[in-house]
Amino acid sequence: MRVTSDLGRCQGYGNCVAIDEKHFDLDDDGLVVVLEEAVSSDELPTTEEAIRQCPVAAIWLEDSP
Ligand code: SF4
Repeated sequence: MRVTSDLGRCQGYGNCVAIDEKHFDLDDDGLVVVLEEAVSSDELPTTEEAIRQCPVAAIWLEDSP
């Protein structure tokens, strides 16, 4: 799986960063940055929780190409 984001939706709440700092960070404008797109099966529960806690659904998982 890989994680992707929609900066147009991100409101900079930072919930994702607090839960999954391996995959998410905030840039200087306070918007989400995907640090690493690939999500291993070990990491999946944490990344899924980060996605659940985003109040504006700005991050999600897709199948890897
Ligand atoms: S939780 Fe959602 S709104 Fe908040 S920084 Fe992450 S992607 Fe953006």
